[in-house]
Amino acid sequence: MTQIASSFGRTIGYLRISVTTRCNLRCVYCRPSDLSFEERRDQFLDFDEMLRVVRVLAGAGLYKVRITGGEPLVRSGVVEFIGEVAQVPGIRDLALSTNGLLLKKHAEALARNGLHRVNVSLDTLDPDIFSLMTGGGRLQDVLEGIDAAQEAGLVPIKLNVVVTRGFNDDQVAQLAALTLTRPWHVRFIEYMPIGGDEHLYQQRFVPASEVKQQLIQSFGALEELEWSGISASRNFRLPGAKGIIGFITPMTEHFCAGCNRLRLTADGKVRPCLLTEIETDILGPLRAGISDEELLQLLRVASQFKPEHHEALGAWRGQRNMVQIGG
Ligand code: SAM
Repeated sequence: MTQIASSFGRTIGYLRISVTTRCNLRCVYCRPSDLSFEERRDQFLDFDEMLRVVRVLAGAGLYKVRITGGEPLVRSGVVEFIGEVAQVPGIRDLALSTNGLLLKKHAEALARNGLHRVNVSLDTLDPDIFSLMTGGGRLQDVLEGIDAAQEAGLVPIKLNVVVTRGFNDDQVAQLAALTLTRPWHVRFIEYMPIGGDEHLYQQRFVPASEVKQQLIQSFGALEELEWSGISASRNFRLPGAKGIIGFITPMTEHFCAGCNRLRLTADGKVRPCLLTEIETDILGPLRAGISDEELLQLLRVASQFKPEHHEALGAWRGQRNMVQIGG
């Protein structure tokens, strides 16, 4: 098996598949497009096409797949699709990113079908702030979804917090405190200027260093945990905690040197870097009857477009928004 070499000495082992651009929330930092937006078959990949990409990549060293969106659980058939991905030889880490609203309903079936773990977006523990940040979401539904995931064994549960000035930057200690009694990972993510709104970015961005300072003031010194060199998250533990605190710092300290990811967008583009606009279309070639060998070759070429690191830190302004790319 020849692995997929990316540029600058990296190897591809991880695929993030966005299965839909639709979402049942409208988060302030993400802003999905119109909820009634329809995904036409001629413009979006079907599950068989996504599965084919997984199989072809798995033959060349892919071992990790994350299903994301939009909100992946709003696409019907996704639970069965996850079951098929879980059967692909070589895939040993299969995860789902979700806002958690539909997790209570699906957690058990997801676990039964072979999903290993979930990451859930959770920006606050205050129901009113949650509703404000998500465009009307109900916090209780997410909390019940997280509990259902824990019960189903979709662990370790990782909670993603986008720290957003003026919305939840005063909530970080409360969220971090979840790790004191639960084996969860609470990961603070720096707000990225996805979609290119510079003005909002300037208003809302909070550097991870500030969050860290707040946590040290509230809990005392953080214990630094070993870093794999590949993970986007730098991990710490609060004194005496069961769980883990993570900082994901795309804007102030990039982690590109060990990046082994490719992204597949719902509309069939391979994107080697979230924060770089280069994309390679595979929907067209797939529907034109490309062979597996040709597909693999196309994926190899796409991987070569992974930049050494994303554009000058803090200066990048993307055009496609997060639901179009897949978070
Ligand atoms: N709907 C799922 C969810 O809520 O996790 C998956 C898609 S969502 C786009 C994936 C991740 O992207 C979430 O953790 C979300 O918080 C993060 N995200 C979205 N917009 C972001 C932004 N502007 N900056 C940083 N993270 C962002």
